[in-house]
Amino acid sequence: NKHLKDTDPEVFDIIEQEKRRQRESIVLIPSESVMRKPAINHSKSSSTVAAESLCQQRALEAFDLDKSKWGVNVQSLSGAPANLYVYNAILKPHGRLMGLDLPHGGHLSHGYQTDTKKISAVSEYFETMPYRLNEKTGIIDYDALEATAKLFRPKLVIAGASAYPRNYDYARMKKITDKINAYLMADIAHISGMISAGVLPSPFEFADIVTTTTHKSLRGPRGAMIFYRKGVRKVDNKGKEILYDLETPINQSVFPGHQGGPHNHTITALTVALKQAKSPIFKEYQQQVVKNSLAFAEAFKKRGYDLVSGGTDTHLILMDLRSKGLDGARVERILELANIAANKNTVPGDKSAFVPGGLRVGTPAMTTRGFKESDFEQVAEFIHQGVQITNDICKKVSGTKLKDFKEYIGEDGSSEPVINEL
Ligand code: PLP
Repeated sequence: NKHLKDTDPEVFDIIEQEKRRQRESIVLIPSESVMRKPAINHSKSSSTVAAESLCQQRALEAFDLDKSKWGVNVQSLSGAPANLYVYNAILKPHGRLMGLDLPHGGHLSHGYQTDTKKISAVSEYFETMPYRLNEKTGIIDYDALEATAKLFRPKLVIAGASAYPRNYDYARMKKITDKINAYLMADIAHISGMISAGVLPSPFEFADIVTTTTHKSLRGPRGAMIFYRKGVRKVDNKGKEILYDLETPINQSVFPGHQGGPHNHTITALTVALKQAKSPIFKEYQQQVVKNSLAFAEAFKKRGYDLVSGGTDTHLILMDLRSKGLDGARVERILELANIAANKNTVPGDKSAFVPGGLRVGTPAMTTRGFKESDFEQVAEFIHQGVQITNDICKKVSGTKLKDFKEYIGEDGSSEPVINEL
Protein backbone atom coordinates (compact mmCIF):
# COMPACT_ATOMS: atom_id res chain seq x y z
CA ASN A 1 0.00 0.00 0.00
CA LYS A 2 2.96 2.30 0.57
CA HIS A 3 3.83 1.74 -3.07
CA LEU A 4 0.26 2.60 -4.12
CA LYS A 5 0.38 5.78 -2.05
CA ASP A 6 3.31 6.96 -4.15
CA THR A 7 2.21 5.71 -7.54
CA ASP A 8 -1.54 6.40 -7.40
CA PRO A 9 -2.49 8.60 -4.44
CA GLU A 10 -6.09 9.06 -5.68
CA VAL A 11 -6.87 5.34 -5.58
CA PHE A 12 -4.92 5.05 -2.32
CA ASP A 13 -7.22 7.67 -0.77
CA ILE A 14 -10.35 5.87 -1.96
CA ILE A 15 -9.14 2.62 -0.38
CA GLU A 16 -8.28 4.37 2.88
CA GLN A 17 -11.73 6.00 2.95
CA GLU A 18 -13.42 2.64 2.44
CA LYS A 19 -11.34 1.11 5.27
CA ARG A 20 -12.42 3.98 7.51
CA ARG A 21 -16.06 3.51 6.49
CA GLN A 22 -15.88 -0.17 7.40
CA ARG A 23 -14.15 0.52 10.72
CA GLU A 24 -16.31 3.43 11.83
CA SER A 25 -19.76 2.43 10.58
CA ILE A 26 -22.38 0.05 11.80
CA VAL A 27 -23.00 -1.90 8.60
CA LEU A 28 -26.45 -3.52 8.51
CA ILE A 29 -26.69 -4.21 4.76
CA PRO A 30 -27.74 -7.89 4.89
CA SER A 31 -25.69 -8.91 1.85
CA GLU A 32 -22.44 -7.43 3.16
CA SER A 33 -19.86 -9.57 4.87
CA VAL A 34 -16.11 -9.63 5.27
CA MET A 35 -13.72 -11.94 3.45
CA ARG A 36 -11.21 -13.67 5.71
CA LYS A 37 -7.55 -12.85 5.19
CA PRO A 38 -6.29 -16.01 3.43
CA ALA A 39 -9.04 -15.67 0.80
CA ILE A 40 -8.27 -11.96 0.32
CA ASN A 41 -4.61 -12.75 -0.30
CA HIS A 42 -5.56 -15.16 -3.07
CA SER A 43 -8.03 -12.80 -4.67
CA LYS A 44 -5.12 -10.40 -5.15
CA SER A 45 -2.75 -13.09 -6.39
CA SER A 46 -1.82 -13.37 -10.02
CA SER A 47 -2.78 -17.04 -10.09
CA THR A 48 -3.13 -18.29 -13.61
CA VAL A 49 -3.19 -22.00 -12.81
CA ALA A 50 -6.73 -22.44 -11.64
CA ALA A 51 -7.54 -24.55 -8.67
CA GLU A 52 -10.77 -25.18 -10.55
CA SER A 53 -11.26 -28.89 -9.94
CA LEU A 54 -10.31 -28.51 -6.26
CA CYS A 55 -12.73 -25.61 -6.07
CA GLN A 56 -15.53 -27.76 -7.55
CA GLN A 57 -14.76 -30.59 -5.13
CA ARG A 58 -14.85 -28.23 -2.15
CA ALA A 59 -18.04 -26.58 -3.40
CA LEU A 60 -19.81 -29.95 -3.43
CA GLU A 61 -18.40 -30.78 0.02
CA ALA A 62 -19.52 -27.42 1.40
CA PHE A 63 -23.13 -28.51 0.80
CA ASP A 64 -22.60 -32.26 1.45
CA LEU A 65 -23.45 -33.19 -2.14
CA ASP A 66 -22.84 -36.54 -3.79
CA LYS A 67 -20.62 -35.97 -6.81
CA SER A 68 -22.27 -38.77 -8.76
CA LYS A 69 -25.55 -36.80 -8.61
CA TRP A 70 -24.49 -33.15 -8.55
CA GLY A 71 -22.07 -31.02 -10.53
CA VAL A 72 -21.05 -27.39 -10.14
CA ASN A 73 -19.77 -24.63 -12.37
CA VAL A 74 -17.57 -22.12 -10.51
CA GLN A 75 -16.75 -19.72 -13.34
CA SER A 76 -19.68 -17.27 -13.27
CA LEU A 77 -18.56 -13.72 -12.61
CA SER A 78 -21.42 -12.81 -10.31
CA GLY A 79 -24.93 -13.77 -9.20
CA ALA A 80 -27.05 -11.97 -11.80
CA PRO A 81 -25.05 -13.35 -14.77
CA ALA A 82 -25.12 -16.86 -13.24
CA ASN A 83 -28.92 -16.74 -13.20
CA LEU A 84 -29.02 -15.56 -16.81
CA TYR A 85 -26.73 -18.45 -17.84
CA VAL A 86 -29.18 -20.91 -16.27
CA TYR A 87 -32.18 -19.40 -18.07
CA ASN A 88 -30.30 -19.51 -21.32
CA ALA A 89 -29.33 -23.15 -20.72
CA ILE A 90 -32.83 -24.45 -20.15
CA LEU A 91 -35.23 -21.98 -21.78
CA LYS A 92 -35.59 -20.86 -25.37
CA PRO A 93 -35.81 -17.09 -26.02
CA HIS A 94 -39.15 -15.95 -24.59
CA GLY A 95 -39.45 -19.13 -22.54
CA ARG A 96 -41.42 -18.69 -19.31
CA LEU A 97 -40.18 -18.35 -15.75
CA MET A 98 -41.63 -17.33 -12.40
CA GLY A 99 -39.85 -15.62 -9.50
CA LEU A 100 -40.77 -13.66 -6.39
CA ASP A 101 -41.94 -10.15 -7.28
CA LEU A 102 -39.26 -7.53 -6.71
CA PRO A 103 -41.42 -5.24 -4.54
CA HIS A 104 -42.22 -8.31 -2.41
CA GLY A 105 -38.56 -9.17 -1.80
CA GLY A 106 -37.43 -10.81 -5.06
CA HIS A 107 -34.32 -10.00 -7.07
CA LEU A 108 -34.01 -8.14 -10.39
CA SER A 109 -32.26 -11.11 -11.97
CA HIS A 110 -35.48 -13.14 -11.57
CA GLY A 111 -37.20 -10.68 -13.94
CA TYR A 112 -39.04 -7.47 -13.17
CA GLN A 113 -41.45 -5.33 -15.10
CA THR A 114 -43.91 -2.63 -14.15
CA ASP A 115 -47.22 -2.05 -15.95
CA THR A 116 -45.44 0.12 -18.49
CA LYS A 117 -41.82 -0.97 -18.58
CA LYS A 118 -39.60 -4.04 -18.57
CA ILE A 119 -37.04 -3.01 -15.98
CA SER A 120 -34.90 -6.17 -15.92
CA ALA A 121 -33.42 -7.40 -19.21
CA VAL A 122 -34.48 -10.89 -18.04
CA SER A 123 -38.06 -9.74 -18.69
CA GLU A 124 -37.08 -8.57 -22.19
CA TYR A 125 -35.55 -11.89 -23.19
CA PHE A 126 -37.91 -14.21 -21.33
CA GLU A 127 -41.58 -14.10 -20.36
CA THR A 128 -41.65 -13.52 -16.61
CA MET A 129 -44.56 -13.78 -14.21
CA PRO A 130 -44.13 -12.88 -10.54
CA TYR A 131 -45.55 -14.66 -7.51
CA ARG A 132 -46.13 -12.68 -4.32
CA LEU A 133 -46.53 -12.67 -0.56
CA ASN A 134 -49.82 -12.82 1.21
CA GLU A 135 -49.94 -9.15 2.20
CA LYS A 136 -51.60 -9.88 5.54
CA THR A 137 -49.12 -12.48 6.75
CA GLY A 138 -46.00 -11.42 4.86
CA ILE A 139 -45.44 -15.09 3.93
CA ILE A 140 -45.24 -16.39 0.34
CA ASP A 141 -48.72 -17.23 -0.92
CA TYR A 142 -48.00 -20.77 -2.17
CA ASP A 143 -51.65 -21.43 -3.08
CA ALA A 144 -51.75 -18.38 -5.34
CA LEU A 145 -48.34 -19.35 -6.76
CA GLU A 146 -49.67 -22.81 -7.62
CA ALA A 147 -52.82 -21.41 -9.24
CA THR A 148 -50.84 -18.92 -11.36
CA ALA A 149 -48.24 -21.54 -12.30
CA LYS A 150 -50.98 -23.87 -13.56
CA LEU A 151 -52.23 -21.12 -15.87
CA PHE A 152 -48.89 -19.62 -16.90
CA ARG A 153 -47.10 -23.01 -17.29
CA PRO A 154 -43.53 -21.77 -16.71
CA LYS A 155 -40.63 -24.10 -17.51
CA LEU A 156 -38.68 -22.72 -14.55
CA VAL A 157 -39.72 -21.53 -11.09
CA ILE A 158 -37.23 -19.76 -8.81
CA ALA A 159 -37.19 -19.98 -5.02
CA GLY A 160 -35.01 -17.17 -3.75
CA ALA A 161 -35.04 -13.59 -2.54
CA SER A 162 -33.12 -10.52 -1.48
CA ALA A 163 -35.53 -9.17 1.09
CA TYR A 164 -37.62 -12.08 2.39
CA PRO A 165 -36.91 -12.77 6.07
CA ARG A 166 -38.41 -16.29 6.19
CA ASN A 167 -37.33 -19.75 5.07
CA TYR A 168 -38.74 -20.98 1.80
CA ASP A 169 -40.92 -24.07 1.84
CA TYR A 170 -38.81 -25.89 -0.75
CA ALA A 171 -40.86 -29.11 -0.43
CA ARG A 172 -44.00 -27.19 -1.36
CA MET A 173 -42.21 -25.49 -4.28
CA LYS A 174 -41.11 -28.92 -5.54
CA LYS A 175 -44.68 -30.25 -5.37
CA ILE A 176 -45.82 -27.29 -7.46
CA THR A 177 -43.07 -27.63 -10.09
CA ASP A 178 -43.70 -31.39 -10.31
CA LYS A 179 -47.36 -30.75 -11.06
CA ILE A 180 -46.52 -28.51 -14.02
CA ASN A 181 -43.41 -30.40 -15.08
CA ALA A 182 -41.15 -27.38 -14.52
CA TYR A 183 -37.60 -27.11 -13.21
CA LEU A 184 -37.10 -25.78 -9.69
CA MET A 185 -34.17 -23.44 -9.20
CA ALA A 186 -33.15 -22.11 -5.78
CA ASP A 187 -31.16 -18.86 -5.69
CA ILE A 188 -29.52 -18.89 -2.26
CA ALA A 189 -27.27 -15.84 -2.82
CA HIS A 190 -27.90 -14.25 0.56
CA ILE A 191 -28.15 -17.37 2.68
CA SER A 192 -25.65 -19.89 1.23
CA GLY A 193 -23.24 -19.49 4.15
CA MET A 194 -25.99 -20.31 6.65
CA ILE A 195 -27.16 -23.26 4.55
CA SER A 196 -23.63 -24.61 4.23
CA ALA A 197 -23.24 -24.40 8.01
CA GLY A 198 -26.52 -26.30 8.50
CA VAL A 199 -28.11 -23.31 10.24
CA LEU A 200 -30.89 -22.85 7.66
CA PRO A 201 -32.80 -25.54 5.69
CA SER A 202 -31.14 -26.69 2.47
CA PRO A 203 -32.92 -26.64 -0.91
CA PHE A 204 -30.66 -29.34 -2.43
CA GLU A 205 -33.04 -32.20 -1.62
CA PHE A 206 -35.73 -30.55 -3.76
CA ALA A 207 -34.16 -28.27 -6.37
CA ASP A 208 -32.83 -29.22 -9.81
CA ILE A 209 -30.50 -26.22 -9.94
CA VAL A 210 -29.08 -24.04 -7.16
CA THR A 211 -27.28 -20.75 -7.79
CA THR A 212 -25.44 -18.64 -5.26
CA THR A 213 -23.17 -15.66 -5.12
CA THR A 214 -19.93 -16.36 -3.29
CA HIS A 215 -19.36 -12.96 -1.67
CA LYS A 216 -22.28 -12.64 0.71
CA SER A 217 -22.72 -14.92 3.74
CA LEU A 218 -20.34 -17.45 2.16
CA ARG A 219 -17.58 -14.89 2.74
CA GLY A 220 -15.64 -15.50 -0.46
CA PRO A 221 -14.57 -13.29 -3.36
CA ARG A 222 -17.11 -11.69 -5.70
CA GLY A 223 -18.39 -14.47 -7.97
CA ALA A 224 -21.07 -17.13 -8.24
CA MET A 225 -21.61 -20.89 -8.49
CA ILE A 226 -24.21 -22.90 -10.39
CA PHE A 227 -25.02 -26.34 -8.94
CA TYR A 228 -27.01 -28.70 -11.13
CA ARG A 229 -28.35 -32.23 -10.89
CA LYS A 230 -26.53 -34.42 -13.35
CA GLY A 231 -29.77 -35.95 -14.58
CA VAL A 232 -33.34 -34.73 -14.11
CA ARG A 233 -36.43 -36.81 -14.89
CA LYS A 234 -39.13 -34.83 -16.69
CA VAL A 235 -42.05 -35.72 -18.89
CA ASP A 236 -41.68 -34.57 -22.50
CA ASN A 237 -44.52 -33.01 -24.51
CA LYS A 238 -45.63 -36.46 -25.70
CA GLY A 239 -46.06 -37.59 -22.08
CA LYS A 240 -42.94 -39.79 -22.08
CA GLU A 241 -40.52 -39.66 -19.10
CA ILE A 242 -37.04 -38.59 -20.16
CA LEU A 243 -33.78 -38.19 -18.25
CA TYR A 244 -32.54 -34.69 -19.08
CA ASP A 245 -28.89 -33.73 -18.83
CA LEU A 246 -28.27 -30.34 -17.21
CA GLU A 247 -24.48 -30.53 -17.07
CA THR A 248 -23.73 -29.90 -20.74
CA PRO A 249 -26.21 -27.07 -21.37
CA ILE A 250 -25.24 -25.23 -18.17
CA ASN A 251 -21.49 -25.51 -18.71
CA GLN A 252 -21.86 -24.51 -22.35
CA SER A 253 -24.09 -21.59 -21.46
CA VAL A 254 -21.31 -20.26 -19.18
CA PHE A 255 -18.57 -20.91 -21.72
CA PRO A 256 -18.68 -20.33 -24.67
CA GLY A 257 -22.28 -19.07 -24.37
CA HIS A 258 -21.64 -15.98 -22.27
CA GLN A 259 -18.12 -15.76 -20.93
CA GLY A 260 -14.58 -15.96 -22.18
CA GLY A 261 -11.69 -17.11 -20.01
CA PRO A 262 -12.20 -17.96 -16.33
CA HIS A 263 -11.07 -15.51 -13.62
CA ASN A 264 -8.56 -17.87 -12.09
CA HIS A 265 -7.53 -15.59 -9.23
CA THR A 266 -11.18 -15.43 -8.10
CA ILE A 267 -11.59 -19.20 -8.39
CA THR A 268 -8.43 -19.67 -6.30
CA ALA A 269 -9.74 -17.31 -3.60
CA LEU A 270 -13.09 -19.12 -3.65
CA THR A 271 -11.28 -22.45 -3.17
CA VAL A 272 -9.74 -21.02 0.01
CA ALA A 273 -13.08 -19.60 1.22
CA LEU A 274 -14.81 -22.97 0.67
CA LYS A 275 -12.27 -24.71 2.90
CA GLN A 276 -12.95 -22.10 5.59
CA ALA A 277 -16.67 -22.84 5.21
CA LYS A 278 -16.00 -26.33 6.59
CA SER A 279 -14.37 -25.02 9.77
CA PRO A 280 -16.03 -24.99 13.21
CA ILE A 281 -15.43 -21.21 13.42
CA PHE A 282 -17.49 -20.66 10.27
CA LYS A 283 -20.35 -22.71 11.70
CA GLU A 284 -20.25 -20.80 14.99
CA TYR A 285 -20.24 -17.53 13.06
CA GLN A 286 -23.33 -18.49 11.00
CA GLN A 287 -25.14 -19.62 14.16
CA GLN A 288 -24.37 -16.29 15.77
CA VAL A 289 -25.60 -14.40 12.67
CA VAL A 290 -29.05 -15.98 13.10
CA LYS A 291 -29.08 -15.67 16.91
CA ASN A 292 -28.23 -11.99 16.54
CA SER A 293 -30.96 -11.53 13.95
CA LEU A 294 -33.59 -13.10 16.25
CA ALA A 295 -32.51 -10.84 19.12
CA PHE A 296 -32.49 -7.81 16.79
CA ALA A 297 -36.05 -8.59 15.65
CA GLU A 298 -37.23 -8.93 19.26
CA ALA A 299 -35.62 -5.60 20.15
CA PHE A 300 -37.60 -3.88 17.36
CA LYS A 301 -40.85 -5.57 18.36
CA LYS A 302 -40.31 -4.47 21.96
CA ARG A 303 -40.09 -0.91 20.66
CA GLY A 304 -43.40 -1.25 18.84
CA TYR A 305 -42.21 -1.80 15.24
CA ASP A 306 -44.06 -3.83 12.63
CA LEU A 307 -41.85 -6.41 10.92
CA VAL A 308 -42.85 -7.95 7.59
CA SER A 309 -43.95 -11.55 8.38
CA GLY A 310 -43.80 -10.68 12.08
CA GLY A 311 -40.14 -11.59 12.52
CA THR A 312 -37.31 -13.50 10.89
CA ASP A 313 -35.80 -16.97 10.41
CA THR A 314 -32.66 -15.68 8.75
CA HIS A 315 -30.00 -12.96 8.82
CA LEU A 316 -32.34 -10.18 7.71
CA ILE A 317 -35.24 -8.16 9.01
CA LEU A 318 -37.65 -6.02 7.04
CA MET A 319 -39.15 -3.22 9.14
CA ASP A 320 -42.44 -1.78 7.96
CA LEU A 321 -42.37 1.89 8.94
CA ARG A 322 -45.72 2.88 7.50
CA SER A 323 -47.61 2.61 10.78
CA LYS A 324 -45.15 5.20 12.18
CA GLY A 325 -46.14 7.55 9.34
CA LEU A 326 -42.63 7.26 7.89
CA ASP A 327 -40.84 5.67 4.97
CA GLY A 328 -37.53 3.88 4.55
CA ALA A 329 -35.84 6.54 2.38
CA ARG A 330 -35.93 9.24 5.05
CA VAL A 331 -34.90 6.96 7.87
CA GLU A 332 -32.10 5.47 5.76
CA ARG A 333 -30.68 8.96 5.17
CA ILE A 334 -30.81 9.97 8.83
CA LEU A 335 -29.11 6.72 9.86
CA GLU A 336 -26.46 7.25 7.21
CA LEU A 337 -25.62 10.61 8.79
CA ALA A 338 -25.01 8.67 12.02
CA ASN A 339 -22.75 6.12 10.24
CA ILE A 340 -25.36 3.38 10.26
CA ALA A 341 -25.77 1.68 6.89
CA ALA A 342 -29.22 0.15 6.22
CA ASN A 343 -31.35 -0.11 3.04
CA LYS A 344 -34.66 1.51 2.24
CA ASN A 345 -36.86 -1.24 0.84
CA THR A 346 -40.33 -1.66 -0.59
CA VAL A 347 -42.78 -3.59 1.57
CA PRO A 348 -45.90 -5.45 0.39
CA GLY A 349 -48.71 -2.98 -0.20
CA ASP A 350 -46.50 0.03 -1.00
CA LYS A 351 -48.30 2.42 -3.33
CA SER A 352 -45.12 3.66 -4.98
CA ALA A 353 -41.52 2.54 -5.29
CA PHE A 354 -40.57 6.26 -4.91
CA VAL A 355 -41.62 6.13 -1.25
CA PRO A 356 -40.65 2.67 -0.02
CA GLY A 357 -42.27 1.94 3.31
CA GLY A 358 -39.60 -0.35 4.71
CA LEU A 359 -36.08 -0.56 6.02
CA ARG A 360 -33.97 -3.69 5.49
CA VAL A 361 -31.29 -4.57 8.04
CA GLY A 362 -29.15 -7.65 8.58
CA THR A 363 -26.56 -9.06 10.94
CA PRO A 364 -23.71 -10.75 8.93
CA ALA A 365 -21.25 -7.84 8.70
CA MET A 366 -21.42 -6.77 12.34
CA THR A 367 -21.36 -10.37 13.55
CA THR A 368 -17.97 -10.63 11.83
CA ARG A 369 -16.94 -7.66 13.96
CA GLY A 370 -17.85 -9.63 17.08
CA PHE A 371 -21.31 -8.23 17.82
CA LYS A 372 -23.51 -10.38 20.07
CA GLU A 373 -27.23 -10.23 20.94
CA SER A 374 -26.79 -7.41 23.47
CA ASP A 375 -24.92 -5.29 20.91
CA PHE A 376 -27.80 -5.63 18.47
CA GLU A 377 -30.21 -4.61 21.25
CA GLN A 378 -28.14 -1.39 21.43
CA VAL A 379 -28.17 -0.95 17.63
CA ALA A 380 -31.97 -1.34 17.66
CA GLU A 381 -32.06 1.51 20.17
CA PHE A 382 -29.87 3.66 17.85
CA ILE A 383 -32.22 2.95 14.96
CA HIS A 384 -35.21 3.75 17.15
CA GLN A 385 -33.62 7.12 17.95
CA GLY A 386 -32.98 7.66 14.23
CA VAL A 387 -36.67 7.01 13.55
CA GLN A 388 -37.66 9.53 16.23
CA ILE A 389 -35.30 12.15 14.80
CA THR A 390 -36.78 11.52 11.33
CA ASN A 391 -40.23 11.98 12.81
CA ASP A 392 -39.27 15.25 14.48
CA ILE A 393 -37.85 16.62 11.22
CA CYS A 394 -40.99 15.60 9.33
CA LYS A 395 -43.06 17.57 11.82
CA LYS A 396 -40.86 20.65 11.44
CA VAL A 397 -40.78 20.91 7.66
CA SER A 398 -43.82 21.91 5.67
CA GLY A 399 -45.81 18.83 4.72
CA THR A 400 -43.95 15.53 4.62
CA LYS A 401 -42.68 15.67 1.04
CA LEU A 402 -39.37 13.92 0.50
CA LYS A 403 -38.12 17.03 -1.34
CA ASP A 404 -38.81 19.31 1.67
CA PHE A 405 -37.23 16.77 3.97
CA LYS A 406 -34.06 16.53 1.90
CA GLU A 407 -33.80 20.31 1.59
CA TYR A 408 -34.14 20.62 5.36
CA ILE A 409 -31.25 18.25 5.98
CA GLY A 410 -29.24 19.97 3.26
CA GLU A 411 -29.70 17.89 0.14
CA ASP A 412 -30.81 18.66 -3.37
CA GLY A 413 -34.22 17.06 -3.08
CA SER A 414 -33.90 14.62 -5.96
CA SER A 415 -35.36 11.19 -5.35
CA GLU A 416 -35.04 7.86 -7.05
CA PRO A 417 -37.43 4.92 -6.96
CA VAL A 418 -36.06 2.06 -4.95
CA ILE A 419 -35.05 -1.08 -6.75
CA ASN A 420 -33.87 -3.62 -4.23
CA GLU A 421 -30.54 -4.10 -5.89
CA LEU A 422 -28.68 -6.35 -3.48
N1 PLP B 1 -29.70 -13.25 -6.46
C1 PLP B 1 -30.04 -12.75 -5.27
C2 PLP B 1 -31.12 -13.42 -4.47
C3 PLP B 1 -29.39 -11.62 -4.76
O1 PLP B 1 -29.76 -11.11 -3.57
C4 PLP B 1 -28.37 -11.03 -5.53
C5 PLP B 1 -27.70 -9.86 -4.97
O2 PLP B 1 -27.07 -9.05 -5.47
C6 PLP B 1 -28.06 -11.57 -6.80
C7 PLP B 1 -28.74 -12.68 -7.22
C8 PLP B 1 -27.09 -10.92 -7.74
O3 PLP B 1 -25.80 -11.05 -7.40
P1 PLP B 1 -24.68 -10.09 -8.04
O4 PLP B 1 -24.85 -8.77 -7.40
O5 PLP B 1 -23.43 -10.81 -7.68
O6 PLP B 1 -24.90 -10.05 -9.51
